[in-house]
Amino acid sequence: MSDQVNPFKLAQDQFDQVAEQMGLEQSVREMLRWPLREFRFQLPVRMDDGSIRVFFGFRVQHNDARGPAKGGIRFAANETLDTVRALATWMTWKCAVADIPLGGGKGGVVVDPASLSTSEKERLCREWIDAIWKNLGPRNDVPAPDVGTTPQMMGWMMDEYSKLRGEYVPGVITGKPIGSGGSLGRTAATGFGVVVTVREALRHLGLNAAGRTASIQGFGNVAQYAARTFIEMLGGRVLCISCWDRNDRTAYTYTHENGVDPYFLQSITDQYGTVNQEQAKKAGYVIEDGDAWRSKDVDVLIPAAVEGVITRENVEQISPKVKILAEGANGPTTLDADRVLKQRGIFVIPDFLCNAGGVTCSYFEQVQNDMNYYWTEEEVLQKLDLKMAGAFKGVLEKALEKKLYMRDAAYWVAIGRVEMAMRLRGWL
Ligand code: NAD
Repeated sequence: MSDQVNPFKLAQDQFDQVAEQMGLEQSVREMLRWPLREFRFQLPVRMDDGSIRVFFGFRVQHNDARGPAKGGIRFAANETLDTVRALATWMTWKCAVADIPLGGGKGGVVVDPASLSTSEKERLCREWIDAIWKNLGPRNDVPAPDVGTTPQMMGWMMDEYSKLRGEYVPGVITGKPIGSGGSLGRTAATGFGVVVTVREALRHLGLNAAGRTASIQGFGNVAQYAARTFIEMLGGRVLCISCWDRNDRTAYTYTHENGVDPYFLQSITDQYGTVNQEQAKKAGYVIEDGDAWRSKDVDVLIPAAVEGVITRENVEQISPKVKILAEGANGPTTLDADRVLKQRGIFVIPDFLCNAGGVTCSYFEQVQNDMNYYWTEEEVLQKLDLKMAGAFKGVLEKALEKKLYMRDAAYWVAIGRVEMAMRLRGWL
């Protein structure tokens, strides 16, 4: 997201636009334009050298009409209350469009996690819970990892909460390590869900899935599993992936004429996501510039790396052959570029529908924690498939009924569900 754009202003503008289309009552608009509750707190933490450093922490609960607030905790040096508010708002829409019984929340700490030792990180995680634990819980608000936080950190936070409550409460937080209440299937969930929505879109467009081609930006968690699932579930071919090289801080596109082999590429990618170029070349990969993924003649484009990569300046590079744009990443398309996609009739699967597989699996984690009974990976992915296909169907039906662009239809469905929950609870 560009530095000039206040993300919360953007979230409010997006909401206002759909609220106008939907003819929402003023009271509903007032409730949903702002979070229900916001917490900002100080976090004094003892550093390894004995000194005390004071951090600022946030937790925002945007809306919990449909169920406990849900959303990650970011540790980032440039974290602001407005970023957290925006992300909490988007979580409300994402959980509602996925039709899981959760609301929207988000949290954060202003800190560069790389500046902390492991024990300092642990103390900061525990302090964050100490500051806000009374407002968290499986029935109130359930955090998860996000930028700068990890499953291990969720494990410490769950432990701290359980100590304060005097009982084991794994469902207070998701994204925990396997063996400490985490769910099987979570690693694959987002990329898998992306491809389920692509499968449903192909079906709607009357196109056979087998033999379809895709071009993917990114080769991290979402992209790796999207690539595998596109090949294994749909029988498609992924012509290229594009990712960042940490050695020269440049993005490259790795193309193979027979389609990439994601397992091989994973085997030559280091823990920071950098592909070994020599080994890739030896295996017949052509290495092009980082933007090449965008202009490939493929059926499906899957941006699954970072935000703001399809812009007014480059949207025309998208090949006329592309039928579907599946937004695996959050916010990959700018508002200007979106207008062009709409005019060109490219079928867009909007981010908060397309990548909702992650939060849906987090919800499954919480359900398993509550039951204290754990599913196999196969069961998790089967349930995820049903849920994602159902979410896609709900949005498509709205788009067809009201003749809406898919992104507008997704907002329409999400906002409508939250409004209905607020009415049924007697808030309005
Ligand atoms: P990740 O950090 O695992 O991977 C990011 C990938 O993007 C890496 O391969 C990196 O090399 C690549 N990349 C970074 N900058 C690039 C550039 N300029 N050009 C090309 N490649 C570049 O992240 P992730 O978890 O896969 O998340 C990707 C996107 O999906 C993000 O927008 C994230 O918010 C969103 N998302 C992730 C999840 C999840 O469960 N992981 C869920 C919902 C949404």
